[in-house]
Amino acid sequence: MAIEPRQPTVHMAMSRFRASLLRRASIVAWVVLIVIGGLAVRSEEFANPRFVFPAFGLAGLLVLSTATRWDRIMSTWAAPWVATGWLLGVVVAVTTIATVPALAGTAEPILFGIAAVAGLLLTWWAHAFVNVAVAMAVYQLAVASGAADTLADVVAPVVTVFVVGAATALVGFEFEKEAVTSAGKEARVLQQRLDFERLYAVSATLARAESLAEIVPHLIGTICKYLDAQVGVVLLQDADMQRLEVMSPIWVNGYPLETDPITVEINATSVVSQTYRAIKPIYVRKVEEASDSHILLRELGLKQALVAPLKVESMRVGVIVVGDPYVGDFTEDQLEQLGSLSAPAGLVLSQIGRYEAQAEMARRLEEVAQMKSDFVSTVSHELRSPLTSIIGSLDTVNRPELAPTEPTSQQLLLSARRQAGRLQRLIDDLLIVSRIDRGAIPVHPEPIFVRDLFAEINRVVSIEPTSIVQPRDLAVRADRDHVTRILINLVENAAKYAPDSPVELYGWEQSNRAVMAVVDHGPGIPDGSKEAVFDRFTQLDQSDTRSKGGTGLGLSIVKSLTEVMRGTVRVEDTEGGGATFIVELPIAVGVSTTASMPSQA
Ligand code: ADP
Repeated sequence: MAIEPRQPTVHMAMSRFRASLLRRASIVAWVVLIVIGGLAVRSEEFANPRFVFPAFGLAGLLVLSTATRWDRIMSTWAAPWVATGWLLGVVVAVTTIATVPALAGTAEPILFGIAAVAGLLLTWWAHAFVNVAVAMAVYQLAVASGAADTLADVVAPVVTVFVVGAATALVGFEFEKEAVTSAGKEARVLQQRLDFERLYAVSATLARAESLAEIVPHLIGTICKYLDAQVGVVLLQDADMQRLEVMSPIWVNGYPLETDPITVEINATSVVSQTYRAIKPIYVRKVEEASDSHILLRELGLKQALVAPLKVESMRVGVIVVGDPYVGDFTEDQLEQLGSLSAPAGLVLSQIGRYEAQAEMARRLEEVAQMKSDFVSTVSHELRSPLTSIIGSLDTVNRPELAPTEPTSQQLLLSARRQAGRLQRLIDDLLIVSRIDRGAIPVHPEPIFVRDLFAEINRVVSIEPTSIVQPRDLAVRADRDHVTRILINLVENAAKYAPDSPVELYGWEQSNRAVMAVVDHGPGIPDGSKEAVFDRFTQLDQSDTRSKGGTGLGLSIVKSLTEVMRGTVRVEDTEGGGATFIVELPIAVGVSTTASMPSQA
């Protein structure tokens, strides 16, 4: 395994506890030694060799014990031996001191204490051993004190030693059991944390990517690293869901490697196909040379492999394979980890797959739209020249000196001229629309007096609108061709749809913008259609507009042209009925009335 959690074992927990117990026992032993020393001084036995030698021996042992790094020793195999030696040293010293009659009473409680401590400090066999030694010491002391005659005086303390020893052995046993459980829990929590961290790392890698080509090497690389596998491959199902395709690149020895297309039939008997259909990951301990179901694994040069299905809920997405070119040392843990890593992987891969499909679809739609726009533009251009010559010919034939005298012929000729004009307008509109779609509308803004614009409109359109501009020298900053086209379109619409009403043009300044309005008193536009009329091919009354020669493109062109000049257009009701189209454009500041500006396009 590449990364192993630092698992606290029972052994470690127990050795930490025993080391701390020994340190505390050493401190208690110092206190005991000082108390016994005091007693020896008081009873004037201080110079007695049976006190001096063991007392100094014990002091030496305790100095050594203070200098010892118990944490280290207690985690080695020597721990029970060293601890037993330490306890026996104390037993011998205390027992020898107790052979001095004046100090005889000091040993017994200390020996009972040692019998108890041993239960927590030692393994069961060392504990038993120390208990026997303590019992022998107690027996010796009893005999030495001359109490051997009374059986009870000898047996009772010995039995007490064993009872105390057994009791602490029981406590020690329970304690060890508790330590096992809590160490196990701690290990599990650590393992879970590690799993989550890995899961998070994989999810974070996945979340950053935007395309499958980008994500696959990252994903497989991260998973291979966590599972310490040399080779990793992601297979995703193809569009018709019949095959699994190996995603290139695959991961080999820490590097992405481009591969030729490899596919696996979904319904085949291979282990990869089986895993795709299965719920859980599979561990192939040994890739068989002869087995048909191991073909892909063999092709990848694997000897052992972990294979997991990639799924989102119940929807299958593909399969992930990680493996090594040598036989079986993956663990069940690794298999489980692959299972948990494959869940977020499946989710993100499927999301990105879908995202890519949508992007591809959007790209194709854009291509089609572009083709359509190109087609419209080409056709319109091609139609324009013959139509211009047809109109020219009709105008010529319509001249008084050439016009036919017969009324039916005259009428037919006039109708042909009207229809040709209508066709010309449609072609012009289509050309502009295709240019708008391509974003190919050139804008050359210049300051233009609104009154000049209105005068120009008056000359061009078939009706004679009245106009009021306030202030007189109000000027817009706009492209002359575009703004003229906008106004002609609006005025001609007014003439078309409100034929019997006067049409007025207004210009004024508002919030530092130049505002122009085309007002009629015709049928107006119902509230529900006030926005829709600016959409392409929107005609409120089909039969009416057809008869009036509309294309349904005029207002959409008005809107697009206004917007490319950083302006807005809207329609409101005229007071008393009718439509008021309001165009707002950037104002041209500092233009003086006396300045001469070209008024012709
Ligand atoms: P069209 O080529 O049909 O005139 P437009 O985009 O210029 O296309 O106008 C869209 C529709 O808005 C028209 O078909 C008409 O029904 C309605 N419309 C435009 N201007 C007016 C107006 N001044 N009064 C009433 N209806 C109008």
